[in-house]
Amino acid sequence: MTDAYDAVVVGAGPAGLNAALVLGGADRRVLLLDGGPPRNVRAQAAHGVFTRDGVTPTHLKTIGLADLAPYPVTVVPQLAREAAFTSDGFALRLEGMWVRSQRLLLATGVRDVLPTLPGLRERWGKTVHHCPYCDGWPNRDARLGVLGSGQEGHHLALSVRSWSDEVTLLTDGPDELTAEQRLDLQRVGITVQTGRLLRLAGREDVRVRFRGGGDLCLDALFLNPTQQQCSTLPAALGCDLNDKSRVVVNENGMTSVRGVWAAGDMTGAPQYVMSAASGGMTAAVSLNTTLIHEEVRRMGAAFHKSPDEGPEGKAS
Ligand SMILES: Cc1cc2nc3c(=O)[nH]c(=O)nc-3n(C[C@H](O)[C@H](O)[C@H](O)COP(=O)(O)OP(=O)(O)OC[C@H]3O[C@@H](n4cnc5c(N)ncnc54)[C@H](O)[C@@H]3O)c2cc1C
Repeated sequence: MTDAYDAVVVGAGPAGLNAALVLGGADRRVLLLDGGPPRNVRAQAAHGVFTRDGVTPTHLKTIGLADLAPYPVTVVPQLAREAAFTSDGFALRLEGMWVRSQRLLLATGVRDVLPTLPGLRERWGKTVHHCPYCDGWPNRDARLGVLGSGQEGHHLALSVRSWSDEVTLLTDGPDELTAEQRLDLQRVGITVQTGRLLRLAGREDVRVRFRGGGDLCLDALFLNPTQQQCSTLPAALGCDLNDKSRVVVNENGMTSVRGVWAAGDMTGAPQYVMSAASGGMTAAVSLNTTLIHEEVRRMGAAFHKSPDEGPEGKAS
């Protein structure tokens, strides 16, 4: 066992970077574990990012790391591999060493599980997207496809329709739509193609090849991939997960496990850069508030008369 920290932030995407910034600014001894690139690394630009619209995800991370320089934040480019409870907090196993921390802030993100359709993975973040708020504007009024069926396909197709009036829903087999949903799509001019897909091709555009023969040329394709937690740490620590495997947090980013906070995509929607950064800030402030309360208590003072009003309930 080597170093001891006030807080370890696990994950250096927008949520973890902003959490580390806030905790560093509170003069906490922070370890930020940077286990790899952010979720949107394959995208050419990040949109909807206040003051940085269109920034590349890699550059945004570079700026985020540089912002930490004045603060007592140590950045280590390693994965947290295991976590254990100790008498005064937590121990985390990195490559070849353990570190100790009073508090943990998890910002480990989610992994997109893409369909196995040949040609799709290579186009992810380039001409294949999941979110019209992120990639709708560069593709406005273009030929857009939505890959999906049933309620999800219906929902995404109607949303994408707001960016273009040329939208095709590709269901890759039975559409699983209700009669009402089919009528909805017809009403707003969305074409439905149920043919099985063979593969995607194209460089600047997306050429959809059907198994039965024939191509459809699109400018971009949208789909809603399923997601998994990037890290097994939340489950291993015993954090409650919801039915979509997202970590359950309260309004302050606290998980069900005392001393553990979580922020960003791993806690569920909305999943955007700014939302993740905001979640990181909220969780960091709450985490730091619990440390302040402990310190004040040790000095014989208290913010609250009743223990029920502590930092884990209402924000102070
Ligand atoms: C293709 C694509 C394009 C997108 N475009 C946009 C956009 O234009 N605008 C927008 O607002 N949003 C966009 N998003 C969503 C955005 O990327 C996410 O909302 C945001 O990155 C979430 O930030 P996060 O910090 O929660 O997680 P992440 O960015 O996923 O960061 C989590 C970090 O934790 C690390 N990690 C995981 N496990 C460990 C571990 N055990 N130890 C240490 N580190 C670990 C990961 O390696 C990763 O670096 C896009 C997403 C995708 C997939």
